[in-house]
Amino acid sequence: MVEFHNYEYDLIVIGAGSGGVRAARMASGYGAKVAIIEADRVGGTCVIRGCVPKKLFVYASRFTELFEVAGSFGWQIDARFDWETLRDNKDKEIDRLERAYTSTLENCDVKIIRDRATFHDAHTVRLVNADTTLSAQRVLIATGSHPFKPHIDGCELGFTSDEAFHLDNLPESIIVYGGGYIALEFATIFNGLGVETSVCYRGGQILRNFDQDMRLGIYEAMKARGIKFILNCNIESVEKSGEDFKVHFTDGAERVYGAVMFATGRAANIQGLELERAGVEITDKGGIAVDRYGQTTAPSVYAVGDVRGGVALTPVAIREGAAFVETVYNENPTIVDLSQIPTAVFTEPEIGVIGMSEHYAAKHHDIDVYIASFRPMMNVMTDKSERMILKLVTEFGGGRVLGCHILGPGAAEMIQLVAVPLAMGATKADFDRAIALHPSAAEELVTLTKPSYQYRDEKKLSAELTLSEEQGLNKMLIAGTTNQ
Ligand code: NDP
Repeated sequence: MVEFHNYEYDLIVIGAGSGGVRAARMASGYGAKVAIIEADRVGGTCVIRGCVPKKLFVYASRFTELFEVAGSFGWQIDARFDWETLRDNKDKEIDRLERAYTSTLENCDVKIIRDRATFHDAHTVRLVNADTTLSAQRVLIATGSHPFKPHIDGCELGFTSDEAFHLDNLPESIIVYGGGYIALEFATIFNGLGVETSVCYRGGQILRNFDQDMRLGIYEAMKARGIKFILNCNIESVEKSGEDFKVHFTDGAERVYGAVMFATGRAANIQGLELERAGVEITDKGGIAVDRYGQTTAPSVYAVGDVRGGVALTPVAIREGAAFVETVYNENPTIVDLSQIPTAVFTEPEIGVIGMSEHYAAKHHDIDVYIASFRPMMNVMTDKSERMILKLVTEFGGGRVLGCHILGPGAAEMIQLVAVPLAMGATKADFDRAIALHPSAAEELVTLTKPSYQYRDEKKLSAELTLSEEQGLNKMLIAGTTNQ
């Protein structure tokens, strides 16, 4: 039931990205009078300068490898790449999507206001360009995040993912700074498009918090594709060197690159919102502080998506937007469960992950670890020796599946489907009941018979012990299955 008050709108949404658009549409569907304010393009980071254009570039970069192996399958290829064609076709698709988002909002009777918003008070928003105010019973902050650059000398000479989508030309060489999602995905893209690519990361191994086998596997696979890694090192400064850029590293080295890209994380878009006027507080990580329902310290103001400074993923923002609407406009208090988020890194090969890494799980549970490692079938007629890795981490004795980690072609698509049984609390026996689809890589997930090794009390058991214990366990498991 929507309550009516003496405000111009029931809901003002600031930011027309994934979370804001979902919330605006749904709230309107429940009868609220909604306005959405967007200073930039409708669609937000994901559509305009994130997931969507990135994936289109990833597709483009993959042709290189297909061309390389095409000869083994009888094809003769003479291929040339044109950056402008890719960039401009991508822009056309993004324009189309923006129009689709816009018309969806309009069809849902959401008023789109193209302006910059700032708080006047907890119920009033000022439109900066129109120099006017709008009032609402509630305000939803869905302003997203922006790339963060560490403050080093010359950092203004490097670009971020925002600009990477619009380069006039591809550089001959590039150094990408960072070892997370964006750094590795763009390193993959540039490498695939023929740019001599290096990655500089401050830690000893890329993709902190990922499963060790995924980290090592992707590191080796990217190196094998010619990407150079500079680990345990930072960029100290960047300076112009003719048309290029000289990069000074903390290990004393200096090297020249055609471009420098910063992929060193993202920060919440809160600047200019004048949150203090509304009584909205921020966390020590710089995101907007919210309770489990997305309500900020100002009762009439809510926040969803990256601006909370939590998990910066489109589907999470969408869920948070929907949960806010269910809670506020449908008398259905909804908390978003973030315990099982499938995620992918669109490198070459891909990584798909859900749940606990082996090492995290071993700290909290006694576990069995099942690993399949093999050459993907596509490679067998080529000279590529790269292996695919599928890993299941389960509770001891074939209990609940706690994590699944895949490195290889199609990992993202596979992990999305693995998310379904994991959301249902599936056990190893549930996976085993599924009939394999042959020949596929994913069939390995349902044909993993023996744990590769196990952990008890955080200790990895020796192979011998694992084997004898596991034989006993298998008997228990079979008995358990028969009883069902
Ligand atoms: P990430 O957090 O994934 O990676 C940031 C990287 O920068 C890390 O390697 C981090 O190192 C490093 N870093 C951070 N601060 C500094 C610093 N001051 N100096 C040097 N290095 C630094 O962020 P991204 O920017 O790659 O992506 C942002 C978010 O967007 C991701 O967390 C993810 O949620 C989302 N995203 C998801 C994608 C997907 O689903 N495929 C694709 C792209 C983005 P360290 O690890 O040591 O802290």
